[in-house]
Amino acid sequence: RFAYVNGLYLRHPEAVVHVEDRGYQFADGVYEVCEIRDGRLIDEALHMARLERSLKELRIAQPMSLVALGVILREVVRRNRVREGLVYLQITRGVAPRNHAFPAEGTPPSIVVTAKSAPRSAGDLRAEQGVSVITVPENRWDRVDIKTVSLLPNVLAKQAAKEAGAYEAWFVDADGNVTEGSSTNAWIVTMDGVIVTRPAESGILRGITRTVLFRVAEAAGLKIEERAFSLDEAKAAREAFVTAATTVVTPVVIIDGQPVGNGAPGTIATELRRRFHEFAAEAPVR
Ligand code: PMP
Repeated sequence: RFAYVNGLYLRHPEAVVHVEDRGYQFADGVYEVCEIRDGRLIDEALHMARLERSLKELRIAQPMSLVALGVILREVVRRNRVREGLVYLQITRGVAPRNHAFPAEGTPPSIVVTAKSAPRSAGDLRAEQGVSVITVPENRWDRVDIKTVSLLPNVLAKQAAKEAGAYEAWFVDADGNVTEGSSTNAWIVTMDGVIVTRPAESGILRGITRTVLFRVAEAAGLKIEERAFSLDEAKAAREAFVTAATTVVTPVVIIDGQPVGNGAPGTIATELRRRFHEFAAEAPVR
């Protein structure tokens, strides 16, 4: 496998960053994960726009144009011969002697890009079977709208899910509302067939899959409500599902050990998954 590191395309064993990289010492950086399907980047423009926003919010300099970053993403995908999988982009505040305050003006941000294959069949099988989620108390900071690599609460939540034999952990806030998963957005479908997901920028990351799914649902004539929903409401819902570039739309069939609806993947979630790529914008890999 090959990775891009600060201007060089390197084999993985040689693809390393400096010990004083601020990403390593302070988790002072941002990232994006883009789905690759049939060798194409899915929703590249939306991911790039979110990256730009994350950088701005953290006052990290944008190291190059979004077009130039796109060229690197596609080159890493191409060199790794990924047809189906994921491409990962990380930008940190760069290398500087350890000090919490920002490094000197002009310190170049560090850029890393990796890509890996993930067979479509595995994701499809997971969606056909449905997944289980557990819940954990929301304990993250109030800027989870920024896609930062500072992900310790998410790491601990995902590990708790794994140890419980679940696929994902949903954060539940002090009001008893589900915010989102450790690496996915959370959705339910009410008994009346209304799709519900929490408003963006209110304790969640604005997922790109989430954004595109609004278009998919509208085109399918389905009703969406953007509002907070409680864990109790989720447990009593007809369907539940999660979304992310890594998993597209994946039905949730168990929450905290209790079956959702009839315990089988929901028809609306399944339909949304089927339709998703008709709406995702596909940028060719050249
Ligand atoms: N929420 C969190 C906390 C995430 O890490 C992710 C995945 N990056 C998402 C939601 C889903 O975002 P996207 O659809 O852009 O992958």
